[in-house]
Amino acid sequence: SFHKSKGQHILKNPLLVDSIVQKSGIKSTDTILEIGPGTGNLTKKLLEAGKMVIAVEVDPRMVLELQRRFQGTPLSNRLKVIQGDVLKTELPYFDICVANIPYQISSPLTFKLLNHQPSFRCAIIMFQREFAMRLVAQPGDKLYCRLTVNTQFLARVSHLLKVGKNNFRPPPKVDSSVVRIEPRKPRIEVKQKEWDGFLRICFNRKNKTLGSIFRQKSVITLLEKNYKTVQALKLSGQGLMEDSHNEIDFSRLGNSNEDLSMDGDDDGADEEMEVEDGDVEGEASEFKDKVLAVLKEGDFEEKRSSKLTLQEFLYLLSLFNKAGIHFS
Ligand code: SAM
Repeated sequence: SFHKSKGQHILKNPLLVDSIVQKSGIKSTDTILEIGPGTGNLTKKLLEAGKMVIAVEVDPRMVLELQRRFQGTPLSNRLKVIQGDVLKTELPYFDICVANIPYQISSPLTFKLLNHQPSFRCAIIMFQREFAMRLVAQPGDKLYCRLTVNTQFLARVSHLLKVGKNNFRPPPKVDSSVVRIEPRKPRIEVKQKEWDGFLRICFNRKNKTLGSIFRQKSVITLLEKNYKTVQALKLSGQGLMEDSHNEIDFSRLGNSNEDLSMDGDDDGADEEMEVEDGDVEGEASEFKDKVLAVLKEGDFEEKRSSKLTLQEFLYLLSLFNKAGIHFS
């Protein structure tokens, strides 16, 4: 009696579990975070490899089964089970995260982990194949999207293992992949709200040129409003007070049905949302000229987000900021 809604697909191939644990590079001194331990097939091998496993599981029946499985064995002293929804649980310190997660929480969980402090060494996570390929995509790849750039901004990501559906019971509808996520240390020093606002605009239509995106009336209006706010704050000497926004805003990133998820709207030209939005082209605007001058300065006018590297995005944002143009 597995719960589909909780993404309960149990790993039944012991060789695969071994391979995941081996590729994780667990040290005997490691505190390991496991998310969704289920019946404990992975948990057992994690306990054997590391010092301590903290497992967060939402389903009380699974928690019971897990506790029963290790009860009276020497492993039980090194297992701590937290019953709860991992997205609502305050995470403890851990060195490494290894997990076969329910796929519906992929995106919010990834960002929750990446914003966790102090940051961990790495996370080895099973994702739905397409989500995994989005995380590791490179500029120009079909799956390269805002999720890719947002993740690679915070971490180095690599593909470890392809996993077919038949390794699970019951088998899910889709294939899976194990990915390694290593948080960048130190972090890239850009305010997260600024970065997030910037990428939202750039990926609004990922296959349009930046020149046409930044000519849109709604974009110009927003940036001009931000610009005036920043100028006003500078004049009143409060410009430095707004410096503490270093977190991705979960309320905006978290809902897997909209933003960064598989079903997101940045999947390619044919799925692009058509927003009613006139160009201000033709309409003279001093501020629009200022914005376009920044694009010209960095030679970005004819470029498209689908092909820009993380470094190019960072460079473009720095040019905007230098011109006093902000995205948050
Ligand atoms: N780790 C086990 C394995 O590999 O055999 C089970 C993996 S199964 C894909 C996902 C597990 O996550 C299930 O046990 C499910 O109850 C649990 N789960 C689902 N949503 C969760 C949440 N929000 N927080 C914590 N655990 C959750």
